[in-house]
Amino acid sequence: MLKIYICPECGWLRTVSRRKDVECHRCGNTVMELTKLDYETYAGMSEQERTDYVQSWRYIHAKNHSQKSKMDD
Ligand SMILES: [Zn+2]
Repeated sequence: MLKIYICPECGWLRTVSRRKDVECHRCGNTVMELTKLDYETYAGMSEQERTDYVQSWRYIHAKNHSQKSKMDD
């Protein structure tokens, strides 16, 4: 059963099978987050649809981290 993870740092999507710790190979972030996409849906999406999904995911999830991000900067 494949699951789709997203990197909150760079928006990279990754399919993962039975792994607990999922790291991003693009930016090196070690904590990717599980999306609600299933593999069938993901596989049927175009590049544009994936890009749109990532953008909306990051928009929704950025709210919780916006203050922290500003402090880190
Ligand atoms: Zn990343």
